[in-house]
Amino acid sequence: MTILLSTLNARYTHASLGLRYLLANMGELQEQTRVQEFVIGTKTTEIVEKLLASRPRIIGLGVYIWNVEECTKVVSMLKRVAPEVTVILGGPEVSYETAEQEIVRLADYVITGWGDVSFAVLCRQVLHGPQPLMKIHAGVQPPLNDLALPYDLYTDEDIAHRTLYVEASRGCPFKCEFCLSSLDKTAWPFDLDAFLAELEKLHARGARLFKFVDRTFNLNIKSSLKIMQFFLDKLAAHPEDPVYAHFEVVPDHLPDALKDAIVKFPAGTLQFEIGIQSFNPEVQAHVSRRQNNEKAADNIRWLCEHSHAHLHVDLIAGLPGEDIDSFARGFDFLYSLKPHEIQFGILKRLRGTPIIRHTENFHMVYEAHPPYTILANDRIGFADMQRLVRFARYWDMIANSGRFAHTLPHILGESPFARFMALSDWLYAKTDATHRIALDRLAGLVGQWLEEQGISADTARALLESDYAGQAHKKHIVKKAQAENKKAESAAPLRQARHLAA
Ligand code: SF4
Repeated sequence: MTILLSTLNARYTHASLGLRYLLANMGELQEQTRVQEFVIGTKTTEIVEKLLASRPRIIGLGVYIWNVEECTKVVSMLKRVAPEVTVILGGPEVSYETAEQEIVRLADYVITGWGDVSFAVLCRQVLHGPQPLMKIHAGVQPPLNDLALPYDLYTDEDIAHRTLYVEASRGCPFKCEFCLSSLDKTAWPFDLDAFLAELEKLHARGARLFKFVDRTFNLNIKSSLKIMQFFLDKLAAHPEDPVYAHFEVVPDHLPDALKDAIVKFPAGTLQFEIGIQSFNPEVQAHVSRRQNNEKAADNIRWLCEHSHAHLHVDLIAGLPGEDIDSFARGFDFLYSLKPHEIQFGILKRLRGTPIIRHTENFHMVYEAHPPYTILANDRIGFADMQRLVRFARYWDMIANSGRFAHTLPHILGESPFARFMALSDWLYAKTDATHRIALDRLAGLVGQWLEEQGISADTARALLESDYAGQAHKKHIVKKAQAENKKAESAAPLRQARHLAA
């Protein structure tokens, strides 16, 4: 094997679409190229040993915010034990601010931006000369129709056990300053018929779980409708073996034609990720986010009331100009719209993003190491920011998990943010932990907190008993629920199945 394409995925179930694009576009080098993926948390020695086992001449490594620290160790070890192997880096984390990165110093070459065709070009130069003079190579962005599509490279094992990432377009026309896609300035579509033909092949091979990485699926409604119709046709033809599709959508653009298609999807087959980030117009203006809040709220409400789509709506804490009260107002308003999950993120300063222009004015202080999370700004001090971080973690465990579905409204009362923040502070004081809290212990703690809020012990117990969390101590019930969920899991992910069951 001459060339290895590798990366560390966040989970085994995430199959890297980027590596498969590179492999698909290797031309005559494809036969000598192989993909070898790892999962973060794997020992560096194990990764390096496996990478070197096939004696590659070149290793291409995909570097992202979630794996850059471990990738740095991998490259460092590779250069010690096998300095003759050429290491080429690519990926968003090494596409900007290359001069200050240790991993860039250690590697032989870096391709910034799009690597789809530039990686093969660089490999040819390394293998056959003349040797490239520069370390940093700006990736060439070809017309999308010139790219070979990578979907045949998903193996049968990928199809059986992993989420399949697909893309009908790249780029984003919006300019939200915290987001790397804001640098794209526009979106480019793939040839739709060719793309749908690939989906057809994947479906025929047994693929049922499709995650679209398009940054804004509902930009071009004609294309969105055609893609949705593809899934509706499959659902109509095989209702006993449903497909499941996940799309990222902008919330303020949902014309009637799209709504008509959305309502046809049965429960457990459609998921939308919707970015709101902030409902505060001043904050939106600071980060150049164009959003019609009224329309966005109407559409989320409509989706909740009239469709079976499972909604994940994103908010970001720590944006310039947003204090805790303003964030709390946005959170409470969003909760009142009743999305299935509120994804509560803390601002991160991604390399290359224009949000850096606010650093001085708003005293934005970020972690120096990945994932460069905000630590404080002029409106939210360090201690309060840590309270928000814990809120986000507990919110995921208690609300988003669907394990406390009946208890949650009693936790939140009339002031969701304030009440949950109180629970979050209390839980942290009791446990000194935000991870590794067993579910039955968490259920007990939530019950205790409810009692302290004046809810009778009997009511609290009954509420928790009606939830998955309150059953966690009864192993046989949990096993039965897991077995029931398994069936649903073949189409919808487990968490969505739990929300549906509640
Ligand atoms: S946050 Fe979403 S809408 Fe804004 S630039 Fe990024 S991808 Fe586009």
